[in-house]
Amino acid sequence: MLETDPRFKVFRGAFIQSISDQRAEFIPDGLVLVASAGEDCGRIVAMGETARVAAAYGLELKDESPGQGTHVAGDLWLPAFFDTHFHWVQDAVREMAKYSLIEWLNNITFPEEAKFADAAFADRQAKQFWESILSLGTVGGLCYSSIHEVALDAAMQWAPADFYIGNVLMTMECPDYLQQSEADAIAIVQSCARRYGRRYIASPRFAPTTAPAVMRAAAEAAQANAAFQQTHLGETLAEIDWVLDIYRKLPGFEDVGSYTEIYQRVGMLGEQSVFGHCIHLTADEWRLLAESGSRIASCPTSNAPVENMGLGSGLFDYPTAEAYGVPWSLASDIGGGPYLSMFDVMHSFVWQNRAIGRADATYTKALHRATSQGAKLMDLPDRGVLREGAFFDAIRLRMPQGQFTAGDAEPILAAFFEQIPDRKSTETLVQETFVKGESRFKRGASTCD
Ligand SMILES: [Zn+2]
Repeated sequence: MLETDPRFKVFRGAFIQSISDQRAEFIPDGLVLVASAGEDCGRIVAMGETARVAAAYGLELKDESPGQGTHVAGDLWLPAFFDTHFHWVQDAVREMAKYSLIEWLNNITFPEEAKFADAAFADRQAKQFWESILSLGTVGGLCYSSIHEVALDAAMQWAPADFYIGNVLMTMECPDYLQQSEADAIAIVQSCARRYGRRYIASPRFAPTTAPAVMRAAAEAAQANAAFQQTHLGETLAEIDWVLDIYRKLPGFEDVGSYTEIYQRVGMLGEQSVFGHCIHLTADEWRLLAESGSRIASCPTSNAPVENMGLGSGLFDYPTAEAYGVPWSLASDIGGGPYLSMFDVMHSFVWQNRAIGRADATYTKALHRATSQGAKLMDLPDRGVLREGAFFDAIRLRMPQGQFTAGDAEPILAAFFEQIPDRKSTETLVQETFVKGESRFKRGASTCD
């Protein structure tokens, strides 16, 4: 066993460290020391080969007995996930059959979101949802709530601290039962921004349903708090025709050139703005995003063909995003995406991109984009990454069958994904979730807090 040392929590097992799009490192017998007190509490003090780290810190290794902290033979540790675009109020409808974006919103999504006007219902749903997300290994992200302030309050109460949440703003082109007046929408944004500070993310649903004055007020509230903004952009071609048709009839937008330009004119582009989807963009739009430092959450399971339980919107062109230098990360977009597990999202990213010949769409890249790049999109550079100095945000899994050598982690990642029996079972892969060095979910335990 490891000699106890009160300064550290000690984790021993096989680790995968995500380093870049091209590189993930497999450490078959690794040791991680996490500061257990002081100002670095929860941060990784040392990480590497067990023998080397133990020697450097004078920890005595005695074989065969369980170590201090968490060590079970057959454990595989990965960095925890950040999901940068999802709708918690669509959890109940995510697995339903889909046809296309606009029908999905009108027939399925909007009636479901309307239920969240009821505070007691919202509170029950929130408790269940935010407990379950930690069981999937997702420890932070960007989230849309319904229009209702009571549902936002419930989500803020139950969600872990590293989820930024906003109520959608809908003031036109939507059913009466989900439509706010412009004055009400602006008042809610301003009061929630005051109440929740940076955790409140201004969230116009998308330009077709949100009046320009409301988007402008939301952008100003976000900027005053140095907080994030989010909305949807360029998801389907029908949506783009619709939005331009609406806006070219509005005063001040008669000559608007593109969907992205609408957001530019209301002050929504910028480094703390995250746009969902961005599948169908022109070169001018890519330039606007790049020049403003705007960021993208890409949702491959939601955009996948309808026979794969997506909305059939298309495939995100990540090579173009990277050529323009636009930061992007992976996201589940539930309920557009059918499963909340980022394993399902990563798998979808790999198979869809490989199917069209993008050979660099590896599991290594998917892992990078589902973990540290998601955290980075939220300006959290020391989260979702296993390296010295970063917080210990990690998930514990079972090792896949096979023989794997130290070094390049792509073979073990590929084996792990190949051994997942079906999409639904991605919901039970995580055995334990750690957030900043604290266990926040353990499979088989009666509760998780
Ligand atoms: Zn969405």
